[in-house]
Amino acid sequence: MLLSITNAGPNPTDIGFLLHKNPANLHSAELAFGHAHVFYSTPHENSCTAHLLLDINSVELVRGAQQLDDYVNDRPYVASSYFAVAIGRVFGTALAGNCQRRPDLIAAPLKLTIVIEVIRARGGADLLQRLFAPLGYTVDAAPIPLDPVFPEWGDSRYFRVTLAATATVHDALSHLYVLLPVLDDEKHYYIADDEVEKLLRHGEGWLASHPERQLIVKRYLKRRPSLVEIATARLLEECPQPLDAEEPPAAATEKELERPLTLHTQRLSMVATRMRELNVKSVIDLGCGEGRLLRRLLADRSFDRILGMDVSHRALEIAARKLKLDRMPQRQRARLELFQGSLLYRDTRLNGADAAALVEVIEHLDPPRLSAAERVVFKFARPRYVLVTTPNREYNVLFPTLPPGNMRHGDHRFEWTRAEFQSWAQATAQRYGYTVTTEPVGPLDETHGAPSQLAVFALDNQVAA
Ligand code: SAH
Repeated sequence: MLLSITNAGPNPTDIGFLLHKNPANLHSAELAFGHAHVFYSTPHENSCTAHLLLDINSVELVRGAQQLDDYVNDRPYVASSYFAVAIGRVFGTALAGNCQRRPDLIAAPLKLTIVIEVIRARGGADLLQRLFAPLGYTVDAAPIPLDPVFPEWGDSRYFRVTLAATATVHDALSHLYVLLPVLDDEKHYYIADDEVEKLLRHGEGWLASHPERQLIVKRYLKRRPSLVEIATARLLEECPQPLDAEEPPAAATEKELERPLTLHTQRLSMVATRMRELNVKSVIDLGCGEGRLLRRLLADRSFDRILGMDVSHRALEIAARKLKLDRMPQRQRARLELFQGSLLYRDTRLNGADAAALVEVIEHLDPPRLSAAERVVFKFARPRYVLVTTPNREYNVLFPTLPPGNMRHGDHRFEWTRAEFQSWAQATAQRYGYTVTTEPVGPLDETHGAPSQLAVFALDNQVAA
């Protein structure tokens, strides 16, 4: 498997310094699964090309600990996760963004052309475009025929890919390091927890805002849901508004849309009031965000134990700062606990509170994940009461700055009508042995209802105080 990188900028051989490989020499490294060689074609006046040749030992792949069970496979011939490992090994210094001899070159964009001789590209030429074009590359993906002697057999699933961009060597290698395994989608090694760090390190500066961020993260982490979720949450902190086509214009974020109504304040006060009415003493705020409900509950002495949980470490840091946790009087401090966790995984720390609140959280979950969150809350944590709020989609037409069909926030995965919310609430209550009532939150419009909606679930044997 061969990959080449050409610099056609003003000082073509600069690429030798940046890759830490002298163009005059052949460089070889031994890897667990074969050998990697770096060599250059004869430099021209106007360009210099470095080649990375990966010579995979296909017998070793099967005999060694490489998790392959068939001697006949495409691994030696395609750009795959083995190739990413080789890049990390032979171009490690460049990948880390270092260049001891010519540090002045590190940040200099070069006129680069990268040729990947063979790649599988699950998702085809279209995916190649979607992955590389947003990073500034011109992408040419030429399908490789199954057999050039028999053109009537058509094309194989493999492509020869040419990427051209003005980019730094560090950026280009980072893109390849992350995206080659994503395209191939058959990572050969076990995905350990430190893969998240690796992904975030090599995705720094470009992955958070990449329109295919979700796909990249999922495939890179081999769809291990817990890791995908952690990586996504951390990337969202870097770039809270995913750059989706549906994203509302910058001015029309949820907060600003709803500002004149101070809708969020109404929601929080309604949730707190309902809990007081139900004689709730201990509360767990699931997806507590920056701690706005927590602050409200702390101010009310009738709540003696208040827990805040969120998947986002950053949100919890902000909550701690805003609540002035470090300066809080001890008696107050003893009532409150913040911790990181996910609604999607059973967690005994969620047990024992009288009530759980999910304020504007469920619409941030992918619909297929929602049922996992339901089980975590209603089946396992099983508090006496569960209070859930979510936007009422019908009301969106009344927000003048929200383009028709858009959701209120770029990270919302769905927004329900009143009927959809009702039917979800009823079905969930029934499934887990709760009763439920729903009610509007915010000013009522005759046709479209209120901007938000609240469901109060009570365990079947609970009598409202
Ligand atoms: N309840 C808060 C924040 C709402 S924003 C408020 O009303 O102000 C949604 C919050 O849900 C975010 O802080 C987000 O980090 C959190 N969240 C999203 N998915 C989550 C999950 N799977 N587990 C826990 N929290 C999650």
